[in-house]
Amino acid sequence: MHIGLDIGGSKVAAVAVDAAGRVVAEDWQAHHAQGNAAVAAELVAAAARLAGSDPIDSVGVSVSGLVRRDGTITSGASLRIVGDLGSDLATSLGTTVRVVNDGDATLRSVLDRHETETGERVRDAVLLTLGTGVGGAMVADGRVVDGVTGLAGELGHLPVLPPTDARCVCGSSGCLEQVAGGKGIGVLAAQAVETGWAPGHGVAANPSAKDVVEAALRGDPVATGLLDQAAVACAQAIRAICVTIEPAVVFLGGSIAHGAAELLPARIEHHLHRRWSFAGLTTPPPVRLDAIGPFAAAIGAALLAGDHLSPAPATATLLV
Ligand SMILES: [Zn+2]
Repeated sequence: MHIGLDIGGSKVAAVAVDAAGRVVAEDWQAHHAQGNAAVAAELVAAAARLAGSDPIDSVGVSVSGLVRRDGTITSGASLRIVGDLGSDLATSLGTTVRVVNDGDATLRSVLDRHETETGERVRDAVLLTLGTGVGGAMVADGRVVDGVTGLAGELGHLPVLPPTDARCVCGSSGCLEQVAGGKGIGVLAAQAVETGWAPGHGVAANPSAKDVVEAALRGDPVATGLLDQAAVACAQAIRAICVTIEPAVVFLGGSIAHGAAELLPARIEHHLHRRWSFAGLTTPPPVRLDAIGPFAAAIGAALLAGDHLSPAPATATLLV
């Protein structure tokens, strides 16, 4: 079996998949670990819970942050992990371990499910997740686009707006997630309140992104404007991605996208078509809201680890 482990700031989601890529077991455990040693201990424990006494063929580990192609973690800020976590785990687990970025793992899982459901193998695709921040991943010609340090695919930091004094968490300015991530939408909502917006309906003085989504669904013009601003920024980001790798499809996920499912995907497509550069020659890719499950990154990590182990046939050639 292949084991997939997705470690976030407060949980380890773990799956075991068989040789055909089917999930045969799941495990979910809360944790508070930080630092390489403590995080490795959590991951080893999760793998042991799933495998029992069965042999493990490979382990894939999904982490947020920047991960190089060789699995070296450039920055795993929220968990305070860095460097070659995979080798330490391989020694403890006695098997091959591959460490990957969580966005890349999620997209691998989404593409696998897409192929199972539709029979269509997509070799060029993008994932945009609108949650607290904006995450993402890109696959071009069947390969994860990760870049020199793993920075490629950090789509929340695509510079789609003119720079201002408002700094993004990445240190830059004008990033996509400053207008399309939950935290960024909350900042913009607070500014709207300062200039007189009263969301009403019992919403607190500091509206959250969830409050903004709910107000927009009620037809509140200010909240609708904030979400439309997010949609414009997403469309700009997708246009930039299109002239970079020209994906066949854009998968959209995350709590903001799902909360505003009735509004955002359609508005993004509206702005994408409205400003499309190559009208008559090409058409924009469809923007598909995807129900990314809580184990998606763990499943993707397991699949990526399996791909790496046997890169020859069928789906194994999809992402290596
Ligand atoms: Zn940024």
